[in-house]
Amino acid sequence: MKSLVIASNNKHKKEEIEALLNNSIQLFTPKEIGCFDELPETDNTLEGNALQKAMYIYEKFGYDCFADDTGLEVEALQGAPGVYSARYSTDEAPDIDEKLRPEYNIQKLLRELKHKDNRKARFRTVICFVEKGKPVYFEGIVNGTIIDEKKGTDGFGYDPVFIPDGYTKTFAEMDMATKNAISHRGRAVVKFIEYLSKTK
Ligand code: IMP
Repeated sequence: MKSLVIASNNKHKKEEIEALLNNSIQLFTPKEIGCFDELPETDNTLEGNALQKAMYIYEKFGYDCFADDTGLEVEALQGAPGVYSARYSTDEAPDIDEKLRPEYNIQKLLRELKHKDNRKARFRTVICFVEKGKPVYFEGIVNGTIIDEKKGTDGFGYDPVFIPDGYTKTFAEMDMATKNAISHRGRAVVKFIEYLSKTK
């Protein structure tokens, strides 16, 4: 079986992508190849961060590697939180247990949108695949709406407040297969798989 390194130790993300890959490629996390370093993620674009993470593994360990970076881009907030989605509430709650971060992020988002009529948002994922040292990029977007209270318990991050266009349920009310079929990451991964099937 072919194998690749995914530059993320997020178990949830690895499982989601493995399901999308139909288990046709075995993924190894940084820890599984003996990389315990914190991966660099200091750029102010999704593309730049994905490149940094994948290139770090390639340069230090020599494996072809891909990384993704995702942001929630909210129209009424001029694209925020965007590349800062994971750390959105850090300015107002710097010292909390990071397990609570998604909840704080959602509460900040709902406050920022409280009196806003425009609830349009999109998730955007960029995958950067570093193959023999050269980067290739794949993008996936899903448009939707931010609702004003949480619904559902599945998924992660902003899933409980995001309803994709054409649906009535939030991502957190969908099973993984349904979400994957329409999600930003799903769409980017499909493009990535198409590329792999042509070149590998
Ligand atoms: P990452 O680049 O995939 O780590 O995503 C950055 C942040 O965007 C995460 O910490 C989440 O807050 C948010 N995010 C990414 N993907 C999703 C998703 O599928 N649903 C909800 N939130 C997400």
